[in-house]
Amino acid sequence: MNSEVKYEVLQVYRFFLEYPNYYLVHIARGSSMTEGKIDFLSKERPTISLSWGDLENARKRYPDAKSQADGTLRNIQKTFEKGGAKFQLNSQIYMDIAGHSAVLSDSESVLTSFMPRSIKKRVIKSLHVHCAESNRWIVLYQMTKLEEYPENPEPFEHVIKTLDCHRGATETRS
Ligand SMILES: [Zn+2]
Repeated sequence: MNSEVKYEVLQVYRFFLEYPNYYLVHIARGSSMTEGKIDFLSKERPTISLSWGDLENARKRYPDAKSQADGTLRNIQKTFEKGGAKFQLNSQIYMDIAGHSAVLSDSESVLTSFMPRSIKKRVIKSLHVHCAESNRWIVLYQMTKLEEYPENPEPFEHVIKTLDCHRGATETRS
């Protein structure tokens, strides 16, 4: 099935990326070069979200992508634990995104209930980037509800592989 996936290019607000063509692209109202959000939506797949904001502001709290990743994950953890779920960070790796040292975090949450008996598992992937060139922090996020979708990391990984966060203006042809 994977060999049949076709990709589309999205190029907006100095972002460049490829996404599987079964996603519908929704740019949040009010989005701009400085801040905004784009959701990739599909009934059969988990939503992938790209959000960004002012880097100079964020750096007062989070000097680098790693500290922003940790801060965000602490908040996510609190939210899940408030709802009675267990949360754990499974892995965190550094990777290169358009020349930046980005942080990819893989975590999961499990909510077990007994009446009626059910286990709800969430797989959460997030990528944090600090882009000095465009003065933005960037977060790519995906939460898979395993009871609704099978685990398939490929779309998220493809977006990461193709993501550029500070693509320049169109080159002038001479
Ligand atoms: Zn960048």
